[in-house]
Amino acid sequence: MADRWRVEVDRSVCIGSGMCVGAAPDGFRLDTARQSHPVAPEAEATESVLAAAEGCPVEAIILTAADSGEAVFPPED
Ligand code: SF4
Repeated sequence: MADRWRVEVDRSVCIGSGMCVGAAPDGFRLDTARQSHPVAPEAEATESVLAAAEGCPVEAIILTAADSGEAVFPPED
């Protein structure tokens, strides 16, 4: 597994549930319009960031390996 992930939130699908902030408070924050943003474009590869991506009800969180660009979540088929 990569040490660092590139973290993106597709704000066209984010519904502002805030679940990602609950799962990974260091990784995500909600703006005043209740849209999620990654705190930084890259994050340490942690269970909590992965849990946030997996737990997003609309799969708005996209994780890719920072070094190789390989898909982490959603996983490639
Ligand atoms: S869990 Fe998904 S839908 Fe909810 S705020 Fe985070 S990115 Fe948006």
